[in-house]
Amino acid sequence: MKAAVLERWKSIAVRQVGDPEPAVGEALVRVGLTGVCGSDYHIFNGDIPIAKTPVIPGHEFMGTIAGLPDGGTETLAVGQRVAVHPLVSCGTCVACRRGVPHVCANLVVIGVNRDGAFAEYVSVPAERLIPLPDDLPDEVAALAEPFAVGYHACRRAVLSPGERVLVIGGGPIGLFAAMVARRLGAADVAVSEPLTARRDFAESHGVNAFDPLASSCLADLAARSGGEGYDVIVETSGVDAGIAMAVEAAAPRARIVSLGFPSERFARYNVTFGIMKELSFVGSRVYPREEFCETIDLLSEAVEAGDIAFDRLVADVRGLDDLERSILGVAQGEERGKILIRPA
Ligand SMILES: [Zn+2]
Ligand SMILES: [Zn+2]
Repeated sequence: MKAAVLERWKSIAVRQVGDPEPAVGEALVRVGLTGVCGSDYHIFNGDIPIAKTPVIPGHEFMGTIAGLPDGGTETLAVGQRVAVHPLVSCGTCVACRRGVPHVCANLVVIGVNRDGAFAEYVSVPAERLIPLPDDLPDEVAALAEPFAVGYHACRRAVLSPGERVLVIGGGPIGLFAAMVARRLGAADVAVSEPLTARRDFAESHGVNAFDPLASSCLADLAARSGGEGYDVIVETSGVDAGIAMAVEAAAPRARIVSLGFPSERFARYNVTFGIMKELSFVGSRVYPREEFCETIDLLSEAVEAGDIAFDRLVADVRGLDDLERSILGVAQGEERGKILIRPA
């Protein structure tokens, strides 16, 4: 089959490789569409500690079942359209024993430290397959993974309808988190983003965007929230200024959810705000399987309601030969929306 192989850091080769050979309990998926993600650049660059080479990257994907383990399964059939929850947990560590296998100490991520979906076929544990509803277009199903990241952040914040949400960072994850918050009934959703092109893109999708570098930004956000502040703050930027802004813009008893990996190990922010407003700080990492399924339901509802312009969320669909330039373009913030790769 044709695949994009990260042979060593910063070196991708698109070439013929042997078809994957599913192990016991694994299914073979013929890949339909795979999203290019900011983390693909960090994998490419060697920035992610668990990543390894050689590996076929690609963790955001949908496709059709091409083979099932011996005896098949009750709910799955060859030819069925599926998304894939790309996390394989060990089952024995503390996190797995406590029922949170998505924060497994030995987590294997399909497309990071085992072969993923920038290839015609990928082999995955059959229990990672998630059947797709017929009315969910392929292009939307391929967005389930990054939307699930935003969905999990909202769930970690215990977001209730009617609450105000501020998302810090307007890249794809921040924008998708804002769209999820709106779908979950947030009364007001604002995004803070320094890049003009990203602010314009968010605004074009009906999400209000603020420039955190403008001197009036905090005053504008306060005014927008009627002086009350934001109930939930989703921090996707990972920069000190982001978390510093979060504690200032927060309402009393607000929940601040961090999911943007920090560029520095320690963030600096004013802890006094945390005490005086009794803020809660929670981390959010990928998503549990059931929330990935709930995200697919949410996307189906959004397609039916027509309240997310999915056609404009996808900037382009390209072939495998364009993968490397797409990864670099995404990393530089050049693309307006997601790039999807069609490997077959
Ligand atoms: Zn991703
Ligand atoms: Zn584990």
